[in-house]
Amino acid sequence: MPLTKLRILTHRMTSAERRFSLRTLVALSSLPLFGVVAAFGLAPDTNTLDITPETITESITLPVLASVNTNTTFERESVIRSGDTLSSALARLNIDALEIQGLLATDAVRQLSSSIRSGKRIQATTTQDGQLLTIQFERGNAPALTIRRQGDSYVAAESSAVLETRVVMRSGRILSSLYGATDSAGIPDKIANQMAETFSTSLDFREDLRRGDTFSVIYTVNYRNGEPVSAGQLLAAEFVNSGKPYRAVLFRDTSGNEGFYTPEGESLKKGFLRSPLEFSRVTSSFTNSRKHPIYGFHRAHTGVDFGAPTGTRVKATGDAKVVFAGRRGGYGNLLILKHSNGFETYYAHLSAFATGIRPGRSVNQGQVVAYVGTTGASTGPHLHYEVRIAGRPQNPMAIKLPGAPPLAVAQRARFLQQTADWSDKLALLRGTNLAALD
Ligand SMILES: [Zn+2]
Repeated sequence: MPLTKLRILTHRMTSAERRFSLRTLVALSSLPLFGVVAAFGLAPDTNTLDITPETITESITLPVLASVNTNTTFERESVIRSGDTLSSALARLNIDALEIQGLLATDAVRQLSSSIRSGKRIQATTTQDGQLLTIQFERGNAPALTIRRQGDSYVAAESSAVLETRVVMRSGRILSSLYGATDSAGIPDKIANQMAETFSTSLDFREDLRRGDTFSVIYTVNYRNGEPVSAGQLLAAEFVNSGKPYRAVLFRDTSGNEGFYTPEGESLKKGFLRSPLEFSRVTSSFTNSRKHPIYGFHRAHTGVDFGAPTGTRVKATGDAKVVFAGRRGGYGNLLILKHSNGFETYYAHLSAFATGIRPGRSVNQGQVVAYVGTTGASTGPHLHYEVRIAGRPQNPMAIKLPGAPPLAVAQRARFLQQTADWSDKLALLRGTNLAALD
């Protein structure tokens, strides 16, 4: 569905939306340590879509779990695009390839595949490693179709659920903290995080925030039968820090790649992440010579070691193509990614590769590609990370990382068509209705 056709919502928050905006909802998608896991008791046949947001009102701190938390579920949404097949639309939901095959072999889904239409939504709940729990297909004139996993097979049922995506616009003013202000404005944490992430190349939200800073966000919320069920996606944002405005609009190019740009078309994405792990510490730096912990002799350490438990998710530090994924001597399980500009990144001692990672596959920056382990010549779980330029190892923590490529000239008209409306709406929101929130 073209974003411009989405309903614009500016009404006052309903109580359901207010409850929905509680921080705990974010736990559904990203925080394994809080109690949604317990509250839902997510057995594989649990349909989380049936659970209204009202049940998610408190966070319960759980004991710290093993680093691979298979109880965490992920809700994802895909919108059928023109030229899509059912399987290409399903692939965007991070569903395991085998699982897609199984689904497409189900009668109900097979019938659907001949009649898919662009703009229709597919919502899926999966486990962290891409195992499908439930999936719901929005259809033309028929009620939505819900497929549920039951053991090794799938059960289909029609549901009368009306799925919609609404566009919401909100503004706020910082009095003490970003989350204080976004909570007061009823903005889901997922959206607040997307805003912070989007502006992270220009603003440090821990250091740079000033009392009186203002922000506006335009984002989608997924509704089911008129009730908000999950935060969707940030579409546009403006943050005014010490009087200086920063703006971002979402753009989807002709290949389906999405990214945030300034309204003038400058990419806000980092070309490279500094680290492939979210939380970690450097346990061994890049050196030209050191005593090797196993071999005992002095030799160069061609990368950086990040200490992290086995199973910690490893992310691609930039858009790339997989050139190697397998065993290689002292590296153990090794993944090599080839980036543009002659960059290669090495991820070694891995316990496992993520689903679908094999030579020739393209991966996006931030995509989970593997899991930390201690295979090969390794004394304990850690990630050995290398950056090579023209084949020569460089210090990943010291080199100048390339920026994201600018918008292609050929995409210019499409960019303006998609984003002009959001830029205008940001301008409208600017300075209006800014109650002192927080
Ligand atoms: Zn190392």
